[in-house]
Amino acid sequence: MVETNPNEIVVVKSENSKINTVDFDNLVFGRVFTDHMFVCDFENGKWQDPKITPYQPMTFEPSARVFHYGQAVFEGMKAYKDDDGKIFLFRPKQNYDRINKSASRLAIPEFPENYFFKGLETLLKMESDWIKPGLGNSLYIRPFVIATEPAISASPAATYRFMIICSPAKAYYNKPVRVLFAEKFSRSADGGVGFAKAAGNYAAQFYPTGLAQKKGFDQIIWTDASTHKYLEEAGTMNIFFRIGDKLITAPTSDRILDGVTRKSVLQLAEDLGIDYEVRPVSVKEIKDAAEAGNLKEIFGAGTAAVISPVSAFEHADDVFEIPQQENSYASLFKKTLTHIQHNLSEDKHSWRHEVK
Ligand SMILES: *Cc1c(COP(=O)(O)O)cnc(C)c1O
Repeated sequence: MVETNPNEIVVVKSENSKINTVDFDNLVFGRVFTDHMFVCDFENGKWQDPKITPYQPMTFEPSARVFHYGQAVFEGMKAYKDDDGKIFLFRPKQNYDRINKSASRLAIPEFPENYFFKGLETLLKMESDWIKPGLGNSLYIRPFVIATEPAISASPAATYRFMIICSPAKAYYNKPVRVLFAEKFSRSADGGVGFAKAAGNYAAQFYPTGLAQKKGFDQIIWTDASTHKYLEEAGTMNIFFRIGDKLITAPTSDRILDGVTRKSVLQLAEDLGIDYEVRPVSVKEIKDAAEAGNLKEIFGAGTAAVISPVSAFEHADDVFEIPQQENSYASLFKKTLTHIQHNLSEDKHSWRHEVK
């Protein structure tokens, strides 16, 4: 069934929904996708033919540039539902702006704002049944762009495809993570693409993260590439430290991704009267604080996991366990953020965006 909706997005509905085959109580992150996806192509110098189609495989020529040179960027966001069935996004303009910042750095043409929001909102309304109410439940949204032009010269493509796919999610990490501070490998460098959600940034982490996992750690906290003395961020999360009652996080830069969760936590710290500093954080300072018993918490912040507490870290063969904190900042921020996201508390910064 093909319909043209008032926003000129062509909608092709799937014949039958998969939703009854999905076990919503036992979701593994990112494995199940909803019935539809949004697709828009860049051809002849412009983005055109926005459409929603059934979620399905696509064909590309083996020479499509994305397979050879990794010209690909993505975003990660979530939709939430309150008990009245209203659907909300959280600060979606931030994600829209960031995918274009990432795209520009990878020489990918920027995507128009009206297509992004109309495509996303039309899709979410169609997939409403996949968004379950209740804290912890959400629909993870993955907008992304790939270079589709069949040509293997090492230069930017002339054609691209922008897509949005959606995957129902429960809390991403449920137990505290053990992390390794990077001493040799790097995630990003000055002048590089660390600030972008560029696909290759994540592929490059798999090998060192695999080595860390063999040693019994879940993730790596990346340090600055030139000295490995300053703590920067995790693979898909920004990182916060609590020394005494002070919250500390590194400033963003061209090496560090400017996370929406990170900037929201900083604003909440301000609102809640929590003392915080945004400044370089050295490995030595954190080890000294841990030794002196002043390191109260480390936690990651990102859309997928929201807030992810760290229970131990290792650096230069020294392992530090971080005792669980009563009334932790991690649980305070998680609760405050998820309550705003699910329309359970006041939203004084207008972060919620209702999908109507
Ligand atoms: C996505 C991501 C984050 C978190 O960003 P949010 O906007 O909070 O989801 C942090 N670091 C990296 C490297 C990321 O890819």
